[in-house]
Amino acid sequence: MSKNLAKLCKTLQLSEIEVGAIKDASFPLKVPQDFLEQIKPGEANDPLLKQVLPIKAELEINDAYSKDPVGDLLKNPSPALIHKYHGRVLLIASPKCDIHCRYCFRRHFPYQEQTNQRHWQQALKAISEDKTIHEVILSGGDPMSLNENTLMDLIESIEKIEHITTLRIHSRTPIVAPSKAPQNALLAWAKKSRLNKVLVVHCNHANELSEKTAGLLKCYRESGFQLLNQSVLLKGINDSSETLIELSHALFKQDVLPYYLHQLDKVQGASHFEVIDKDALKLMNAIRPKLPGYLVPKLVREEAGKPNKSPI
Ligand code: SF4
Repeated sequence: MSKNLAKLCKTLQLSEIEVGAIKDASFPLKVPQDFLEQIKPGEANDPLLKQVLPIKAELEINDAYSKDPVGDLLKNPSPALIHKYHGRVLLIASPKCDIHCRYCFRRHFPYQEQTNQRHWQQALKAISEDKTIHEVILSGGDPMSLNENTLMDLIESIEKIEHITTLRIHSRTPIVAPSKAPQNALLAWAKKSRLNKVLVVHCNHANELSEKTAGLLKCYRESGFQLLNQSVLLKGINDSSETLIELSHALFKQDVLPYYLHQLDKVQGASHFEVIDKDALKLMNAIRPKLPGYLVPKLVREEAGKPNKSPI
């Protein structure tokens, strides 16, 4: 795990000036060891490094960018619970992530007001009282950054609610920190659970995938999880048709289907990652004839107040 800019640059044989890094960013540097091992030393433009390195462009103020770009706090009926879409709710299971992605849409989220076990109890009570909800999505932060026993307590409480039929976990941990991802108790539970199980991982570039991710994802798949991926379209990282095609094939090789390609959520500090819609559509037109339909992700944007993701 690297949280120190000087050490990170030394490990990667780069100078802080060369990469334009800034110290003391308000959203601190955090790079897990497995992800660090996938970054090419000496490569200032490495697409993985660019996802985690704080740089000066983050300090630019852009009025079109806000602290809550997807309107989480407009649909927050109780702490830890976000209820935007019909039939499903999102439970903020953890304030932490194993990595800090510089484009993170929740980088300003008030986690301290939203996530502790008392809040979970309130959220679980609200879910059990609303029979229109059939799917619970564990999110964060990253739910897989929780201690495995704590995660399992939460999952087992959800399973006890009779009208819940599906558990979905949104996590970047299996991709960026597979060595730390929960396995034993989660896999044993999944094999016998009555719930439909979906794991949506978050991978933006084929270089993030490795033998470690392949082994872990195979275990999740064999224990009954459907595996899907969501990516964010990021300027200078995955905004070429070759990169997106390679990503789809690499994911499929590891049993994961591409699901969403998100347009960037306009969060303060991330405007330098934006790919404009016109260019995003050109990319989709370039990849569609080269991939089977099941490997083409849906290009979408999440808009505050809308009852579903908006196709572009
Ligand atoms: S893993 Fe997801 S929630 Fe965590 S920092 Fe990255 S984008 Fe944000």
